[in-house]
Amino acid sequence: MKMIDTHTHLYVEAFDDDRDEVIQRAIAKGVDEFYLPAIDSAYTQRMLDLEKAYPAHIRLMMGLHPTHVKENVAEELKHVEQMLDQHLYTAVGEIGIDLYWDKSTLAAQQKAFDQQIKWAQERELPIVIHCRDAFEEVFEILEENKGEDLFGIFHCFTGTLEDAQRAISYNLKLGIGGVATFKNGKIDQFLAQLPLSSLVLETDAPYLAPVPHRGKRNESAYISLVVNRLSEIYALPEEEIIKATSIATKEVFKTKP
Ligand SMILES: [Zn+2]
Repeated sequence: MKMIDTHTHLYVEAFDDDRDEVIQRAIAKGVDEFYLPAIDSAYTQRMLDLEKAYPAHIRLMMGLHPTHVKENVAEELKHVEQMLDQHLYTAVGEIGIDLYWDKSTLAAQQKAFDQQIKWAQERELPIVIHCRDAFEEVFEILEENKGEDLFGIFHCFTGTLEDAQRAISYNLKLGIGGVATFKNGKIDQFLAQLPLSSLVLETDAPYLAPVPHRGKRNESAYISLVVNRLSEIYALPEEEIIKATSIATKEVFKTKP
């Protein structure tokens, strides 16, 4: 049974020295598909090159990351829209609101998030959400855009049980990664109360490495540690975790199971 890493930044500088080895290690571990969320236009060509090198394994998203909403936001958004029209992407992401790094750009982040959701809806694409210290702000925009054409993944979910249920009510799956293995990660306390069909696996590599690699560079091969932790939390065999999360992933990205 193959695993899917629904969120991995394989194209960033942290992998410049050994990118191919990192990808091969993950494939050897049973990771068959890698979904690459976008950050900003600086990485577009690198992502396209990687997709060309691994067409059977790599899937791309297009979007402007909330921490990269800066003075050039108008140009960056224009780039997102142009690329969505030019190339086949699997999702619009990662998009959302981050008030941890910079609160001063909130209004621009809200506008960029809302605009990109609408582009996803017009193209019948899922969205992949980044939310840090901004649950109410994110939910406010989801509420305004809710409907059958709103669906996707709430990436790196770190909220409460109530936040989780609210996210699921907007047709979103929760992206579960290294945080589930952290002693103070909190989500392990209530995850078992949620149906497995609402979870997808992710690493967010090179960030948020699971225990025992916490604090070091993360890579997609470590997704098996997340599977192992979910198997403890749900008291189910690892095969069941992989199967249910893979089905949930295919549902989001509308690919055949
Ligand atoms: Zn990310």
